[in-house]
Amino acid sequence: MRAQVFTILPEVFPGFLASSLTGKALAEEKWSLKVVNIRDYAFDKYGSVDDTPSGGGAGMVMRADVLGETLKHNFTGGKLLNMSPRGVPLNQKLVHQLAAEDELNIICSRFEGVDERVLEEYGALDISIGDYVLTGGEQAAMIMLDAIVRLLPDVLGNAESIKDESFESGLLEYPQYTRPVDWRGRMIPEVLLSGHHRKIDEWRLVQSQQITQQRRPDLWKKYLELK
Ligand code: SAH
Repeated sequence: MRAQVFTILPEVFPGFLASSLTGKALAEEKWSLKVVNIRDYAFDKYGSVDDTPSGGGAGMVMRADVLGETLKHNFTGGKLLNMSPRGVPLNQKLVHQLAAEDELNIICSRFEGVDERVLEEYGALDISIGDYVLTGGEQAAMIMLDAIVRLLPDVLGNAESIKDESFESGLLEYPQYTRPVDWRGRMIPEVLLSGHHRKIDEWRLVQSQQITQQRRPDLWKKYLELK
C-alpha cells in the first residue's frame, strides 16, 4: 500500500510509524509513505497557506488555491481522505476497507480546517478518529495509518491474533493474563490454566459479552441485533 500525506509539518512523519510493527513493515516495503509539504506550493515568499475565514470568526482556514496546487502536482489517483472531526467515524470496519486500497492520500490540516471547495473538487472523504478536537490532522492520520498498516498482509506476526481482537467480532476483547500465576495474591482464573480449550473459549466469550455490555451499550445492542 502506498500512502501519501499532505501536511505543513512534514518533520513529524513518519514519527512512531517508524517504530515497532509499522516501522518494520515500512523497512520491508510492505507499505510506503510519501510526505508532501503543502508550504512548497504557497504563492508568496513567506510560504503562507492560510487566511481568515470568509464571513468572519476565529482562527484561520487553509487556502483552496495552495492546497489545490499541492494536490494538482501530487495526487495521482486512489482514495483521498481529509482528517476532520466532522468526518465519518473511523472504526475497525472502515480500517479494513482502507487497508484493501492500493493508494491512500491523506490531507492533514491545522487551524480551522480547509476551504470546503477543495474537498468538493477532489471528492475527499472526511474521516474523524473520535469525538474530540485535536490541534491538527497529522496525529489523526498517524493513528489511522497505524490501524491500517497492522492489517496489511504479513505485518502482524500471528494473523490469528486479529480475529479475536476487540471490535472484530462485534465484542470487546476478554481479559488477558500471563505468568506469574500468583501475583500479590491475585490468581490467574483457573479455567485458563486447565488446558481445556472448549471451556476456555466459553469463558472468554462470556467475559467479552459482559465487558461489552457494561462498557459499550452501543456495541452490545448491535451485537444482539446481528446475532
Ligand atoms: N474547527 C474545526 C476543528 C479544527 S481542529 C471543527 O470544529 O471541526 C484542526 C485540525 O485537526 C482539523 O482540521 C483536522 O485536520 C484535525 N482534527 C482535529 N480533531 C480531529 C479528529 N477528531 N479526527 C480527525 N482529525 C481531527
